Amino acid sequence: MTERIVVVGAALLDAGRLLAARRSAPPELAGRWELPGGKVEPGETPDAALVRELREELGVETEPVGRVPGEWPLKPPYVLHAWTARLLPGSPAPKPLQDHDALRWLTPEELWDVEWLDQDVAAVREVAGLLRA
Ligand code: C5P
Repeated sequence: MTERIVVVGAALLDAGRLLAARRSAPPELAGRWELPGGKVEPGETPDAALVRELREELGVETEPVGRVPGEWPLKPPYVLHAWTARLLPGSPAPKPLQDHDALRWLTPEELWDVEWLDQDVAAVREVAGLLRA
């Protein structure tokens, strides 16, 4: 029996742009870009995990909007889910507080200008479709 642990990644959208975050650690991921997020803790809902992780990592107050269809394998037992989210009115602007050393708001034209983590590419492709819609 394999327990599966969900990692939620946020497609934080603002004014038609997607926030990308560059990882500063661990060494094998540093320098690559991701949808910020993290592990859903036991007893926590995925949307609560998303709000918590974005607060911890970026200092922002957000609202999950919807699940991006799909589920992508990470290192077992982890699987990646993505959710779109938006900044709440009055939220501070995102800052790289932990795990990241740079942030970029990408327009649809710029989405592939950054080197995404391999495991995030499929999720970003889904989000690209939403941005164009
Ligand atoms: O941020 P945290 O360490 O909780 O993330 C758990 C794992 O999920 C990390 O090992 C990271 O590699 C992976 N992850 C990912 N893509 C994301 C967010 C996290 O592969 N967008």
